[in-house]
Amino acid sequence: MDKKIITTGISLNWSSMVDRDKLEIGMEVFFLHKKKVFTGKILKLNPTRARVKIRGKIVYDVNYKALLLGNPLVDGFEKDPILRETSNICTAMQLTSLLNELKADYGAVYKSVFSRDEMQKLSSLEACFGKRETYCRAGKYLPARNEIVITASLINAPGHVIKKVLHHEIFHIHFPHHGQMFRKLERSYKKFDEAERYIHALFQTIRFDNIFRNLRICTI
Ligand SMILES: [Zn+2]
Repeated sequence: MDKKIITTGISLNWSSMVDRDKLEIGMEVFFLHKKKVFTGKILKLNPTRARVKIRGKIVYDVNYKALLLGNPLVDGFEKDPILRETSNICTAMQLTSLLNELKADYGAVYKSVFSRDEMQKLSSLEACFGKRETYCRAGKYLPARNEIVITASLINAPGHVIKKVLHHEIFHIHFPHHGQMFRKLERSYKKFDEAERYIHALFQTIRFDNIFRNLRICTI
């Protein structure tokens, strides 16, 4: 039997994401597949995927990263607390002051890889928010305009999160792609992991929100 879910206000509960070690056979889980939510029970725990039994004889092998605990029809969803930690950084002026903080704190790092010309670009670099909420890319650097565009999804994110994105994009003044060196350099940002987790959780929430808006739930 298919049920239509009432989607108003539904968000992914980040804490319902799975800790692999806490899973047991028979646990109720759900996952997204082809824009549908599937609920089922764990049959078997393989090294990278859980075997999940849906209705009848239907079985899916689901990557642990895509698996969520519980039953969305019963439990509902609530926004994760970390997403409530917001600020109001939404103007170009505020972005400029974040850029200046980065230049002060990481100037030596930028200088170690940038040419004189690139340092010049850094000093006249501008930043703004894009118009669309996205959940794949946090920002982009536009070389022709020497400007960083941050996704509108991050408009109310805390300053340290936006700075992490700016820090990443600044390195694109020099590196067009994400090589090993690039990854090492962007990790010089002090709150890298914390900011990364915030962005990941936020993007998951937006992604799930989008999907939940028009989906059907397949019950066991
Ligand atoms: Zn990049």
